[in-house]
Amino acid sequence: MQNPNLTSALRLRALLETEIVSLVEDLGEPAFRGRQLFHWIQKRGARSFDEMTTLSKSLRAKLADQFEFGGIAGVVSEKTSTDGSAKFLFEFCDGRKVESVLMPGSTSDPLKMTLCVSSQVGCAVDCKFCVTGKNGFFRHMTVDEIVDQAIHARRWLTDRDDGRSLRNIVFMGMGEPLLNTENVIPALRLMTDSNGMDLSPRRITVSTSGILPGLAELATCGVPVGLAISLNGTTQAEREEIMPITKRYPLDDLLEACRRFPLKGGARVTFEYVLLDDVNDSPTHARRIVKLLHGIPSKVNVIPFNPDPGLPYDRPPDKRVEQFAQILRDAHLTTSIRWSKALDVSGACGQLAGQYRQKLPDGSRVMLERE
Ligand code: SAH
Ligand code: SF4
Repeated sequence: MQNPNLTSALRLRALLETEIVSLVEDLGEPAFRGRQLFHWIQKRGARSFDEMTTLSKSLRAKLADQFEFGGIAGVVSEKTSTDGSAKFLFEFCDGRKVESVLMPGSTSDPLKMTLCVSSQVGCAVDCKFCVTGKNGFFRHMTVDEIVDQAIHARRWLTDRDDGRSLRNIVFMGMGEPLLNTENVIPALRLMTDSNGMDLSPRRITVSTSGILPGLAELATCGVPVGLAISLNGTTQAEREEIMPITKRYPLDDLLEACRRFPLKGGARVTFEYVLLDDVNDSPTHARRIVKLLHGIPSKVNVIPFNPDPGLPYDRPPDKRVEQFAQILRDAHLTTSIRWSKALDVSGACGQLAGQYRQKLPDGSRVMLERE
């Protein structure tokens, strides 16, 4: 469902340094000009050729004539929250919108920020507890659109000059990244390029509902990023109910793929577990998780369900959430509870761009802004 008007070959934000160097050489310029251009685009986050003061005016004019930046076409809204989070609503050139949320990474180091990025407009996986899934799939995001979320957030932080910096990226926004490896893997290469954003691969986490072919690609792509699995169910039958994708990619096979995933020194797989009231939140469920994860270097992120009027679940009482996490900790599993951040800017997990029901190709859903 890619928009045919998106001519990604001309979008500079999508290109690796080597590709930019050869474009610039084709214009009769030396290779180092290409490296400068790459630096402006990826590291400095330039949004116009005029900003690129280290390049000659004539080169800038030639570039402006032939290429586009790609990426984000506009920032529709930007909301900051009292807890230090910021939520951006971005628009692309075809009018599609996605959100990214910037959050303080930890209470011990609030200056190091984590950015939650989207990888698709919508999602086709259809998990029953997820607003994005409920709204359906629109299109893949392109390489330039994916990286530009991080470029924008980094420049936003630099402009504020208050000591905060972009430290971690998590692919936990809209979409299933491992159904869009064609764009996500090149985006990972760009984000970790030492002449570009230079983010450490170990500080990037790709979260998946368990798409096995995509997981195999990620494991062998050569960028050693962290892995998060949205577990959410503890038996094949139970997980099938809330994550129908489990029929295609069974739970046992997913756990086996996690065992084989190449983790870099000391890294662990993060298992995300959304707690749904009276569905998957009993002590028996917690004990099953302990068994399932046996032998996998893991940590668990317990997420109390973020309710939405369109979803058929409730959030368990905080006490049950605490008890659930305690059973895991008693079994020596490193466990954290993700009490939602940025709730006052509606940035809760699974709710990104939830306010914007986007139009389906058949026009059956209209754009609607919820309060
Ligand atoms: N598609 C990928 C990444 C995006 S979803 C994946 O599923 O892993 C990011 C996380 O939000 C997932 O762990 C998902 O389980 C969680 N999530 C989705 N809907 C939620 C909701 N309503 N409340 C709490 N967490 C939710
Ligand atoms: Fe898609 Fe992830 Fe939501 Fe499932 S939880 S519908 S995979 S975004």
